[in-house]
Amino acid sequence: MNRYDKKKSKEFDMIAKTAFAPIYPVIAQQIVDRCGVRTGICIDAGSGPALLAIALTKMTALKTYSMDSSEDMREIAAENIGAEGLSDRIVTIRGDVQDMPFEDGFANLVVSRGSFFFWDDLVAAFKEIYRVLSLGGRAYIGGGFGNAELRARAAEEMRKVDEKWEDGVKKRFEMCNAGRFHGIMRDAYIPDYEIIDDETGFWILFKKA
Ligand code: SAM
Repeated sequence: MNRYDKKKSKEFDMIAKTAFAPIYPVIAQQIVDRCGVRTGICIDAGSGPALLAIALTKMTALKTYSMDSSEDMREIAAENIGAEGLSDRIVTIRGDVQDMPFEDGFANLVVSRGSFFFWDDLVAAFKEIYRVLSLGGRAYIGGGFGNAELRARAAEEMRKVDEKWEDGVKKRFEMCNAGRFHGIMRDAYIPDYEIIDDETGFWILFKKA
């Protein structure tokens, strides 16, 4: 089920461009530092308005596919990418992370922020991400706000428009426990992975050996 209809997509786009705006370049830099992939093909799965895809593409030589299961979100992403003059380097595409419209070994890097909370079948999604990775390719999947200070700033901004925002975030992050993800990675047959659970957020990093 996709909750991101036109109204919800527009609302999230506004939040991403205001309260969340400072987090995207910081997360993009963390992806570059932790994965070391600066060239080739990147897929941002559940890309939303594409602000992470834009930040990451700007600081690398990557060609990026901004993929989202919501057509309304894809249209917003295309507008944002066009406004940044990056339409030749970021392609928007509608697709479900559990059944991606890419051939085996297509991508050098797959990233995803704040989307896995909504995936129906995490094992299927992680298997699919592994399938589309090239040999030596890296994945960076999870959720977070960059660092503790940026998280606090985002929370302060969000409280002004939604006093229950913090409760929603806490509830979503309840699924982020390492034990659960060890099981998911085992069931997805992904041997070489790392779980980061710190002020940068909760992230699963893996490599296709
Ligand atoms: N990654 C963006 C960001 O951090 O700004 C957007 C995050 S938004 C909270 C979650 C996005 O995941 C939505 O755009 C939603 O449509 C997308 N999504 C949810 N389930 C998905 C799925 N199974 N496959 C692809 N995208 C999905």
